[in-house]
Amino acid sequence: MIELKNIHKSYTRKNTTVEALKGINLKVNKGDIFGVIGYSGAGKSTLIRLVNYLEIPTKGEVIVNGQSLANFNKKELRETKKQIGMIFQHFNLLESKKIFDNVAIPLVLQKKGKQEIKKRVTELLDFVGLSDKSNSYPSELSGGQKQRVGIARALASNPSILLCDEATSALDPETTQSILQLLKKINAEYNITIMIITHEMAVIQEICNKVAVMEKGKIIEVGTVLEVFGKP
Ligand code: ADP
Ligand code: ADP
Repeated sequence: MIELKNIHKSYTRKNTTVEALKGINLKVNKGDIFGVIGYSGAGKSTLIRLVNYLEIPTKGEVIVNGQSLANFNKKELRETKKQIGMIFQHFNLLESKKIFDNVAIPLVLQKKGKQEIKKRVTELLDFVGLSDKSNSYPSELSGGQKQRVGIARALASNPSILLCDEATSALDPETTQSILQLLKKINAEYNITIMIITHEMAVIQEICNKVAVMEKGKIIEVGTVLEVFGKP
């Protein structure tokens, strides 16, 4: 489903080069809830952004659904990116737009019809439990509610993969739990493969079936959560 082959990524600024990733090999299978854990600076963000082609590897190959992204033309890349939803630590909602319109963004960009958008957004808001917030603005919502909006928006174009970038790091433990349960439900009901990066062990223990541990641009361990941490 997602395969990273010998990925290297360097950032060059002025005269200094930072090697953020140093030879990453990773395979995420369909249906996995795959966690990547590591300290700040380990390279987690860079790794997940490569899967979405928000970053381009300096070396190596990113393969999604059996196809190497580097071989795609713009149109094919755009189609593949529709298959990948993403949620963020700080939710990344548009403050000037109502909740309905925030969720509708991907559908508007895809030039879907008004009726179709209304139907789909209504379904999505219902699914994340925010039907009554359709006409509210992000500033009127709690952190947990904002992340639910982020999730609804990420699911709008029916992705087969959901990427989560520290998606619960700005939330309290109780809200974190409810978001993790929602991710579990998305994985189980829609068979969406989930990749999560986090520095929080509790997130890995709670919902991941596989985990990779990152340190200084390398994966130092990978396996089931039981194999890596010795606890279910
Ligand atoms: P993590 O998500 O684990 O905190 P990152 O992928 O954000 O790690 O960062 C890995 C390394 O790459 C760090 O040393 C960071 O400073 C560097 N880095 C990340 N993004 C950039 C960038 N856009 N420009 C320069 N250096 C970057
Ligand atoms: P969109 O309009 O769908 O956002 P873009 O063509 O602007 O698509 O590409 C989005 C990202 O993918 C950009 O970071 C771009 O540099 C990168 N990208 C696009 N085409 C390629 C390619 N053939 N190889 C590597 N990276 C690419």
